[in-house]
This record gives sequence, structure tokens and C-alpha cells, in this order.
Amino acid sequence: MELFHISAECYPAAKVGGLADVVGALPKYQSTEGHDVRVVIPGYDTKFINENEFECVHWSHVKLGNFNFPFSVHKEKTDKLGFELYIIAIQELFDRKEVYGYEDDIERFVAFQIATLDWILGRREIPDVINCHDHHTGLIPFMMFYAYKYQKLKNTPTVLTIHSGLYQGIFGFNKLYYLPEFDLAHVGVLEWGNAINSLAVGIKCASAVTTVSPNYLNEINHSSNGLESLFNMVRQKSKGILNGIDEKVWNPATDKVLVSNYTIDAIENGKQENKEKLCDIFDLDPSKPLFSFIGRLLEEKGADLLPQASALALAENLNEINILILGSGNETIATELNQLLPDYKGNYNTFIGYNEDLAHLIFAGSDFLLMPSRVEPCGLNQMYALRYGTIPVVRRTGGLKDTVIDFEDGGNGICHEQASVTDICTSIRRALKMYEDKKTLNKIRKSGMQIDHSWSSVCKEYTI
Ligand code: ADP
Repeated sequence: MELFHISAECYPAAKVGGLADVVGALPKYQSTEGHDVRVVIPGYDTKFINENEFECVHWSHVKLGNFNFPFSVHKEKTDKLGFELYIIAIQELFDRKEVYGYEDDIERFVAFQIATLDWILGRREIPDVINCHDHHTGLIPFMMFYAYKYQKLKNTPTVLTIHSGLYQGIFGFNKLYYLPEFDLAHVGVLEWGNAINSLAVGIKCASAVTTVSPNYLNEINHSSNGLESLFNMVRQKSKGILNGIDEKVWNPATDKVLVSNYTIDAIENGKQENKEKLCDIFDLDPSKPLFSFIGRLLEEKGADLLPQASALALAENLNEINILILGSGNETIATELNQLLPDYKGNYNTFIGYNEDLAHLIFAGSDFLLMPSRVEPCGLNQMYALRYGTIPVVRRTGGLKDTVIDFEDGGNGICHEQASVTDICTSIRRALKMYEDKKTLNKIRKSGMQIDHSWSSVCKEYTI
């Protein structure tokens, strides 16, 4: 089958979070299953895109209302990612460093979707399936079905994969004229909450809807920023498929970033050597347990709870623990996290920013990974942590509930119910007890490393 993935992110070409990891991995595994897989993203000004060779395969103009933007489609020449990567270059809209966060994001992503469909329409073959990801591509199933110019694509099945229901790409009907001409009798399909809601449109029009974990599918039926009733209506065509991880990129035995590679048999020494390196960089004590956090500093990740939880845990156990935070996002949270630095020097440190290599070293060198998320559609970090023998300390929500079972219930992690400072601190106390009992600690680390979260075991679910 010829499968298209259309997305705002794809690792390593453009990454903000887990969406990139999934779109950079799932297609690779689908290719090994024998499918012809093509991934399409916008052409940003990123390191990967600048440093790799692309060949131009198509050029034209994309019409966005009264605007007309020149665009070109470029294919990465070597297919070294394990699938064909295409970028849609619309210079005025995408030749920028960041993926999101601009005032004209609506214009950018509507133009991206139209340009992508224009190109697909002009190709000789019609794809067998088009897999859209998140709200940035949510209008595609609508346009394929209702826009006059895409009628050739009307019967092509579409999948909308929801990586986050929080962001929905909402804009006013004053921008309706951006869309290619369609029968206005169907204008109601675009509407949700008196506006055009790109995610809702995708949910309504896609042939199938997937969420990135089964539990998240249950949760969004009750709580999804106003889309609850819609999710209930489309239950029949919805499926929760747990994300996998790219075991080639995330492998402690081969990871080039680590100072010491290790397998399950040498887990203690391997982790300790990486921990020493990490503690050396961040002025921490490698003889003490290391709790880390990696992620976007946002309320949905529970990052706003970290300053107080860290301060309390450190005050209570000053001579017993290290805490290290890697993240970027909300500046208030970052400031609050940094304000703790003078009081807890030697036990606590932060890296405010985005650093892929550092994330790898932290997964290897930490003892525990904190994930106090309020919302976690799947969460990849807990799976990376398990693979590196690091014990996830999580709030039971979304995909965390599907993947992390408390060790006292026979699982490989530490779990709590509430997104609260008290619950995080209780989990840290339980982790400390576990850390003292090295036999249990190593047993849990090892069994975590043995869990198979690879895409090879789940990617088939996307094509059946
Ligand atoms: P989300 O997509 O909601 O941010 P996930 O757990 O699904 O959360 O995926 C996050 C991905 O982004 C992981 O690969 C994680 O390691 C990475 N990541 C997030 N923040 C940072 C950061 N500051 N530096 C390096 N990697 C990060």
C-alpha cells in the first residue's frame, strides 16, 4: 500500500515533542512491513533540512484566499530515514526557525494542507491511505471530501491520529475564504463552537480516528476541551493505539550519546557511569539517587508543580537526593525552577532549553524519571525511561496509565493519582525506600528494560 503521513513534525527533520518521534518512527516500521511510505512536513529552517540534500519534485502556487504563495516540494535524496521524506517549501510562511508559535500559524498550516493536496492531486498515483496528524492537518479529510478540485481524492481513506486534543486549530469564519471552493451546503461540517475547529473537522470527516493510547480515548470522551460529545459520536470509527518507540534511536546498548553503553546484564555499572558524567556536568552527587524531569514546561505536564515539589522533597531529604530538570516552555515556571538553585546547590540543577543529546544522557544516568502530568495522551518519556532502566514516577493519566503499573502491583514504576505536590512528594519518598533496597531496585529496572514497546509490535494496528 502507498501510505502518506502528513504532519507538522517529523524527527529528526523538525521536532517539538512526541509527535515528531511518532512520525519519524511509525513510517519506518511500516516501510519494513512492505508499504511505500511517504511523510510530508513543511520546509522549516531547521538544521536537518539545511544540512541534508533534497531534490525538487514539484513547484507551483498555493492559493490562500486572496494570497498566492509560490511553493515547491522537495524530497530527501537518500531515503536514509527509512521512508521518503518530502518537505513543502512555502518560503514566506515556513522559512523560520520555530515550528509553531507565530501569529499567522493558521495561515501557515492551512496553506501547507492545500499545497500538500494540490501536489498529491497532480501525482500519477492516488495514495491508498492518507494519515493526518493533529489539528495542523485536520482540514485535509474535509477538503478531500467536499472541495471541488479534490474530488479525485474523495474515496481515498483518511486516518486522523490525535496526539493531543488540547490544541484544536480554531479560527473564525471570517477566514473561511482561505479554503478551496466547496459546496456551501456543507459549511456546517466546519463548525464547532461557532468557529472553524480544525481538529473537530478532522474528527468528523476522517474515515478513522486514532488516539495515541487506549486510555486517552476513554478520557477524551469525558474531558477534551469541548470535544467530548463529538468524540462520543464518532466512537464507532475510533481506536486507541498505544505509541511505540523507535528502538534504533532509543537503545542504551548503542546510543552514541552515552559515555557508557549497557545492556540488561551490565545495567548497574552502565547506569552509574552515565550518572557520574551527568552529575559531573550538573554539580550533583552520584552517590545519591537522581530524580529527573524531561519535557515541555507546561501545566499539562504538571511542570508548574515541580518548583514546590522539588523544594519540599529537597528540604525533607537534603542529604539524600538529587533533582535535575531539563525543559523549556512557560517562562514563569522556568524562573520558579531556577529560583531554587542557590538554596539547593549540589543537590539540584536545571537546564532550561531543548537539548536532544542531554535528554538521552538523562534517561541513561537517572534513577527515576518524574512525570507528574495532568494530561498525557500517550507519553513517550516513560517508555524511553523503562528502556534505559530508569524507573518512571508518574501520575496515573492517559497513556501513563496504560504503560506504567506500580511496583507494588507487580509493575515497573511508581504511580500516584492526583496532580498535586503532596502526591509527587509521597511518590519520591516511596522511590527513596526502593532505592535503598538495591535488590528490588535492580529487579524492577531489569524487568522494565525487558518490556517490548517497539513499533514493530504495534504498527500493524494502523493498517488493519
Ligand atoms: P509531548 O509530545 O507531549 O511533549 P512526549 O513524552 O510524547 O510528550 O514526547 C516528548 C519528546 O520530546 C520526547 O522525545 C522528549 O524526550 C522530548 N523533549 C521534550 N522536551 C525536551 C527538551 N527540553 N530537551 C530535549 N528533549 C525534549
